[in-house]
Parts: sequence; structure tokens; C-alpha cells
Amino acid sequence: MSVSADRTSPTRILVIEDNQRIAHFVRKGLTTAGYAVDVCRDGASGLRALRAVPPQLVVLDLGLPDLDGMEVLATVRSEGHAMPIVVLTARGEIPDRVAGFESGADDYMTKPFAFAELLARVRARLREEPRGERDELVNGGLRLNLRTRRVRTPDLGERELSNREYALLERLMLHPDETHSREDLLRAVWGIDFDPQSNVVDVYVRYLRLKIGAHHIETVRGDGYRMAEPISV
Ligand code: CA
Repeated sequence: MSVSADRTSPTRILVIEDNQRIAHFVRKGLTTAGYAVDVCRDGASGLRALRAVPPQLVVLDLGLPDLDGMEVLATVRSEGHAMPIVVLTARGEIPDRVAGFESGADDYMTKPFAFAELLARVRARLREEPRGERDELVNGGLRLNLRTRRVRTPDLGERELSNREYALLERLMLHPDETHSREDLLRAVWGIDFDPQSNVVDVYVRYLRLKIGAHHIETVRGDGYRMAEPISV
């Protein structure tokens, strides 16, 4: 095991979710975002894991096969654990939502949800500075501010980004040397497993190019997108 003694040891998140597909994409997305993620498939094992090594945040599905998510939530709080808990709930479970707030949930996501939205809530609950101490990502003349979520270019100045535009650009700029396939971007930014019918990635790349200038994002034919080579000044 490699141990780094600095402050960058990853934040631990426990995901309690019995739906394999959802558990998979949440784990993958959070891992990609730099978190250490454990997944439990039922309430009892979730409680065991949480007691053994309390995580910094819990993502909790309400509909679990054994203990109901509400019971898990109540138990966790009654045992004095104060970490933020983001609850995943099926559409229309409004009474559960009300009861959930009373029993100590911090936030809710209604299924189906986009991964980018969950990530935004997780970050907000952890009150983290995104990506450790970094303020911005820089590529060529392009500067993406991780606090204000605005982008700046020499030609076009500072622009606001929608949540999805921001998540997409952040993803590209965090790994500027990689070509990102549409499938990877769909999964990372939208939380969608591969959908051959979807052109949403291309649409959002077009939006971004309008805001930052087309030349910053290269199309790799048949493969996906990547940041253009930084132009050395
Ligand atoms: Ca479930």
C-alpha cells in the first residue's frame, strides 16, 4: 500500500445502493472525481461498513432489499454519525422526502438523475474546494476557474457556463492529453451508459466552442474529443 503523508489522501464516500447499474456509474464517476468509494448493496452491510470506517459522506438509496434506507438513516443518526448523507429516491416518494429531512438526510436526488448533478451536490455537502487547492485549469489561453465555474479566453473574455458545459470542459481539461470518447463523456458528465442514439456530447461541445472559440477543442475523427495542443507563447 502506498501512503502519501500529505493532505491529499482521498475523501471516502460510502454508496449504499442495491441497483447494480446505478451503483456502478456512481462508483465510477466518484472515483474519477478523485474520491475513494465503497459500495454496499444492502442496508445491513452498509451500516457495518459505516461503523467500521466512517466515511466523509454517504450516498444512500431509500429502496433497499433488507433494511429500508430510512431505517439506515435513522440508525446512523441515532449512533451519532454526523457526516452528510445524500439520499437517492425514486420519483414521487414525496412523503419519504419529508420524513427524510426530519431523520437527518442532507440532500436528495430523484432518480433518474444526472451524475454531474450528484457530483455537484456531493461537493457542496463536503464544502470542498474542487480538486484540492487548485483554483483553475489552464490550457493554452484557456482558463477555467474551478470556484466561479467561469471560463476565460483572451479573445472572448469571461463567460458563464451551464452546469453541463462546465462539467464537460472540466473533464476535458483535467486530462488534456487524452482523447475522450463520446461514451466516456456521456458516462462522466451525464451519468448515462452508452447510448448510440445520443448526440448530446456533440451538441454540448458545440455550445462550448461557441463560448470559448472552436479551436480549443479538437475533434478526433471516429474517436471523440480532446483539448487542442496548448499554443506556446
Ligand atoms: Ca433500490
